[in-house]
Amino acid sequence: MERSTSKRKLNRIARHPRQAAAPVQSASQRQAFASPDFAHRDLAELQKTAGNSSTARLIAGAPSLSKRPLVSLTAQGVQRTLVQRHLPGVLAKLSTDLAQIRTTLSAYNTEDPANGDLMAYINKHVSDIAALPGMVTVVDTKDKLVQALALDMVARAETPTTIDAVMANATDEVMNKGGGGFTAKDGTVWMLASANDSSALFHELIHVLSGEGGVTQLSVTKGMLNEGFTNYFAEALAKKYSKTIYPAYPIATAWVEKFAKKFGDSVAYNLYFKNNEALLYSTLAKQMKTNLDADKVIHDANKSKPTEKPATTKYKLTEVNLYCTAGKVKDEGALAVIIKKKISESYFMEATEPGLTMMDKFVFA
Ligand SMILES: [Zn+2]
Repeated sequence: MERSTSKRKLNRIARHPRQAAAPVQSASQRQAFASPDFAHRDLAELQKTAGNSSTARLIAGAPSLSKRPLVSLTAQGVQRTLVQRHLPGVLAKLSTDLAQIRTTLSAYNTEDPANGDLMAYINKHVSDIAALPGMVTVVDTKDKLVQALALDMVARAETPTTIDAVMANATDEVMNKGGGGFTAKDGTVWMLASANDSSALFHELIHVLSGEGGVTQLSVTKGMLNEGFTNYFAEALAKKYSKTIYPAYPIATAWVEKFAKKFGDSVAYNLYFKNNEALLYSTLAKQMKTNLDADKVIHDANKSKPTEKPATTKYKLTEVNLYCTAGKVKDEGALAVIIKKKISESYFMEATEPGLTMMDKFVFA
């Protein structure tokens, strides 16, 4: 599937590079993201990956319970096309409704024929969410989206800032980086009208479905991979329901596609929507162990018959031995720890990253 067209993502208005012209993150940028000293760009990344209301909390290490201040918009500003969500009680109702939907989702059971159609099931709940009062605000121009994003950036800023101070960044996200929508701090979604009827809306609403404020455990460990799962479901839904695909997070999405193809949609679903990060690592580790065990048997047989022509193996003995302890392939738990570390160290920005090629070799091969 083409993910490298001119429009890119949508999600948290981010900086997902077009595939072809992707500016590769420099080591210093990566370092900046890893350090507590967030640059604006890094803040945007975190907001995007963490989603909404929890970004400030993640950064500040403290609960962010404050609602976005009531926005007062001028004639040039953003006009809400849906129900005003700042009416008293609207956000509280929204929060309750979403909590209920998540509870229902967590009861998803692929053994149950009624729940067996993953896409229909998600679509139903996405529709439910989109229908919630004030959940989605559609704006008809990029300028209005920039305004809304700038307000959200101010609302999320750890230290007080101003619209003027964030405007360049907000403008860049929308005008240059292809942002077509974002999930705001209050958990609601802002979308460009031109992107609204596409995978982009699915993407944002799937975030909202996945956890409070779009935050899952995986989003904390590896935000880009969380985006990959989000966008994998969004694109799958868009395809199924003949919506436009708004390309986003190409490498992370492709990785999740590979994962789902190998292990099944229900595993992808269960780990993402049930907030079961451990299932990701255990699934990968189990497959890695199967691959290594099979190879180890052949290496051992070759060793026992030194005079015969050695049978072909998938990996070199030195490679297998990397994952052995006391002459045996490590157990799944130990491999899961190794895999989690590899995932944590990866950026999911380039297919050639060592953590990703390692999994290609030992898990997906
Ligand atoms: Zn996203």
